Amino acid sequence: MKNSKPTLAEKMRRFAKAPISRRQFMQSAGAATAFVTAGFAPGAFAEEGAPRVSEDDPMAKALNYVHDAGSVDAAKRFSNQFCNNCALYSGGAEDEWAGCSIFPGKNVAGRGWCSAWAARQPIK
Ligand code: SF4
Repeated sequence: MKNSKPTLAEKMRRFAKAPISRRQFMQSAGAATAFVTAGFAPGAFAEEGAPRVSEDDPMAKALNYVHDAGSVDAAKRFSNQFCNNCALYSGGAEDEWAGCSIFPGKNVAGRGWCSAWAARQPIK
């Protein structure tokens, strides 16, 4: 009697030949795009000891980035907005400097701010 269980090699061949549905493709492509655009690509966040972004950096100037959020005109910024509570900040609330996905490879000040600030969602 022949064993009807497929071998691992046979399973791999079947898997490779299986057509991927358009929905499956779109889901995986969408997830990958969201992952990268959210700044979670490997190396997107600055490491400890990375250079600090300069306020004179062209991108920093375009986004009105400052190391001290308190120096921003109150008409431009709500008083509770800081890099360390921004969704794009890779550090924690207590970190003085950490990465920001807008400035790959550089650190921004935890007490800084820019006009791209977005509320960090609480982890549920
Ligand atoms: S406010 Fe957010 S987006 Fe702007 S520099 Fe700080 S962490 Fe980055």
